[in-house]
Formats: sequence, structure tokens, C-alpha cells
Amino acid sequence: MEQRKAFYIDGRWAAPQGKETIVVDCPIDGSALATIPAGVVGDVEAAVNAARAAFNGWAATPVAQRAELLKKIQDQLKARTDEIATTITREMGMPYKLSQRVQVGSPTATFGMYAKLLADFSFEEQVGNSKVLREPVGVVAAITPWNYPLHQIAAKVAAAMAAGCTVVLKPSEVAPLNAFLLAEIMHEVGVPAGVFNLVTGYGPVVGEALATHAEVDMVSFTGSTRAGKRVAELASAMVKRVALELGGKSAGIVLDDADFAVAVKAVVGNCYLNAGQTCTAQTRLLVPAHRYEEAAHLAVAAAEAYRVGDPLQAETTLGPLASRMQQERVRECIRRGIAEGAEVLTGGVELPAGVNAGGFYVAPTVFGRVAPQHSIAQEEIFGPVLSIITYTDEDDAVRIANGTAYGLSGGVWSATDEHAERIARRLRTGQVEINGGPFNLQAPFGGYKQSGNGRELGKYGLEEFLEYKAMQFRPAPKS
Ligand code: NAD
Repeated sequence: MEQRKAFYIDGRWAAPQGKETIVVDCPIDGSALATIPAGVVGDVEAAVNAARAAFNGWAATPVAQRAELLKKIQDQLKARTDEIATTITREMGMPYKLSQRVQVGSPTATFGMYAKLLADFSFEEQVGNSKVLREPVGVVAAITPWNYPLHQIAAKVAAAMAAGCTVVLKPSEVAPLNAFLLAEIMHEVGVPAGVFNLVTGYGPVVGEALATHAEVDMVSFTGSTRAGKRVAELASAMVKRVALELGGKSAGIVLDDADFAVAVKAVVGNCYLNAGQTCTAQTRLLVPAHRYEEAAHLAVAAAEAYRVGDPLQAETTLGPLASRMQQERVRECIRRGIAEGAEVLTGGVELPAGVNAGGFYVAPTVFGRVAPQHSIAQEEIFGPVLSIITYTDEDDAVRIANGTAYGLSGGVWSATDEHAERIARRLRTGQVEINGGPFNLQAPFGGYKQSGNGRELGKYGLEEFLEYKAMQFRPAPKS
């Protein structure tokens, strides 16, 4: 069993101040995969002090030099793709091939994107008699979840470092091993001491110590709405900047003129990506009432085509959930859906056939005839569970799509992009996929309403970590 025994603080591996460790479970069979140290307040103190001490130097480092380091990190991530993908698959369960492409490919590309973006980004402009500067916000605490663990780390760390901020990272205790690999890479490529620091541990201990620390200028948080609210509340005492990327309950709207065979299959695929543990997952399939039977048939066929099992096996298309707790939570949601009267068209609470009973598997499930107010249509489930909801007309579809506390993402399917766009413009969400348009690392990512208030990726993600400073000059004397 792998044992991580140190944090990465001030450019070296530092012994934890506490004695407690956290066991990281392997979702494939429920075995213990590794142990990591559980950080305490003293560890946070050391890491924040290191980040504070490094800040002025890093902020003053020429942009081209910062870009060069980001590029080196990209190269190292790329070189270690197989190792990192295996690590992430073993700690959180995504099928290996997808892990290579998504769990490693995306963060690798993100570091590269910020390296490139720095070449063109303007850190100052003249506005009338003012010179307006964009300066790094300072010491950033990055708190991240387990579902796309390294992607979420990269979206924060690459952008913050590009901006000239120094970082203390607290990754999820459920899937923390990839963060140690990133720290190794930071060390290898020569990131200056204190610019990047890693402390693992529990949210209420390490996360809250970061959110309340006087020397932390900004908290960038991705995770559940519940924990995000807590972080924002704590950070508000010191008027810290807080960027929140929270949950979602996105709708995939299939319009009457869409190609149903393509659209329904794509929404199911979007919903089940990463076993449904995707914040942007389109977990509500909205179809015209008179096409319900056809859509239900297609959705069931798509769901039943998934091969659930060991994510290290090449034929597997749907792996286990990341933790026993998540498996239980999702099965409880399924039970609740049944109790509320929704119809299980496929899947359900029973374990899928043939899987390792010790692993954290959940059967791909489709609920039919779900009412928009049902809890399974309102709450984020974070598992492979799709709810089919019918609408009477397009106004009704928009009303249902917008009718949750969330506003992260969604999709619209139609015979034409123009028709889909008209509906997309009416959705109160931070992103919308038009006819399955692919994810774009340059576009702003974030939510409306209780899905959060931050924007990550692209230049928008860089701007999150910058302050404005305006210097007013005396106008030139009139001659
Ligand atoms: P979580 O909120 O339980 O944990 C996220 C992180 O916050 C972890 O590092 C955790 O240790 C920490 N944390 C927990 N309680 C804390 C506290 N009181 N103070 C400070 N930190 C605390 O979420 P999770 O279960 O790891 O992740 C799943 C959630 O993340 C889902 O709701 C999902 O939608 C959301 N998510 C959102 C996005 C997005 O960008 N909008 C992306 C991925 C996941």
C-alpha cells in the first residue's frame, strides 16, 4: 500500500505536525489503496507562511518566465500521463482510457493554455488619465473535489500561478494521490520554493483553517454547494475574495425537430460520463410529451449498452463511484425517486450484474415520467441516474430547465443550431452545449445561481486571480 508521509511546503517535503492519517479507498474493490497525512492547523500555518513569503518574488517574476515554468509542468504531466491516469483511475474509478484523455489530458492542456495565454495577456492599459494595472490577488487557497481531481486543481493552480499568485492546495481527501504527483513535478521543474504548497486533510480542518487564515487573500473552491456556502461564510469575516464552483442539475433539452436517436444517446452519454460524477452532467432529459415513448426507449437502449465494471479493463465504459459514501448516497436517491412515484425504466438500487461486490458500483439508471418538482429532478445526485421529464411546448421546456436552484450547464438539441441557440439564450446557466458542441478550455466555466459565482479557464479564469489598480496621473498642462 502506498504511503504518503509528507506535505509539500516551501519547496521541500515536510513532515506533518499531526499523527493522524487518512486511508484512501480503491473504488474498484473497496480495498485500502494508500494513506495520506491528515493536516492540522499548524501545517496550514507553515504552508500559508511559505506562500506569503514567496509572493512578492513570484509576482515580480517576468511573465515570460512564469509561462516557461507552466510549459515545463505541461511537458512533465504529458510525459507521466500513463502513471497519473492509472493513479486517478485507481483512486476515483474512471475507466482508464478516459482517464488518460480527460483526467490527465485536460489538466495538461490547461497548463499549456495558460503558458500560451500569458504571451498575449495585457496586464495594464491606459484609461483616460489612469494607468490601470492587473495585479495578482496574493496568496490563494485552492480547495478541490475528487471527481475530476487534477483538472480542477489545474484550473485553479495554473491560472493562479500565471497571474503571479502563490498557492496552497488542499485537494479532496477522497482522491488526493494525483496532487502528490503534481507536487513532484512542480519540484522537478524548479518552481520556486513557496509558490506551490500542498497540504492534504479533511475539509472542516484544513479547508476551514485556510478559509479563515489572515494571510490568505483568496479562496478558490470547487465542491458541493453545502461546503461552498460554509467556506464563503467563513471567508467573509475577513472580506477575502471567494470564487465558488459548485453543483449542478443540468438539463439536456431535445427539441421536437432534433434527431432523437443522436440527441437522446448523447444526453445519456453526457449524464453517465464519469459514472455521473460530473458537475455539468445533463441529468434531466427534457423531451416533448408526445415523443416520450420514443425517447424513453432510446434512453434505455443507450443506458443498457454501458459495460459496468473494473475501470482498468479496456472493455469497461462505466466504472464505480469514487467512494462508498457516494455509492450509498446515490442508491438512497434512487430509493427516494421510487418512493416519490417515478418509474425505473432500467437500473435501480441493486448492484449491476457481475461487478466486484466490494467495489462502489451503481447500475446505470433511467427514471421515466419524472415530475419537475420531484427531488430526483431538483437535487444533484452525482451518480449514473437520468430523469426523463416531458414538456408541453418550448416555453415549458425553458421553465422546467430553469426551475432548479442550480445554473451550471445544459444542452439543447435541434435540427438547426439557430433554433437551439434561441432556446440556449433563455437558459440561466453558465454554459450551454449546442447540438453537442465540445468542451472548450478557452471559454469561461462557472455557474449562475447556487452553482457558484466564479469563472475558471481561459482568460476569464486568469482574471479571477487579479486585482485592479488604477493610478491617476495629472493631465498634461494645456499649451
Ligand atoms: P465536497 O464539498 O464534499 O468537497 C470539496 C472539497 O471541499 C474537498 O477538498 C473537501 O475536503 C473540502 N471541504 C469539505 N467541507 C469543507 C469545509 N467545511 N470547509 C472547507 N473545505 C471543505 O465536494 P465533493 O464531494 O468532493 O465533490 C462533489 C461536489 O463538487 C459536487 O456537488 C459537484 O457538483 C461539485 N463540483 C463542482 C464543479 C464546478 O466546477 N462547478 C466541478 C466539480 C465538482
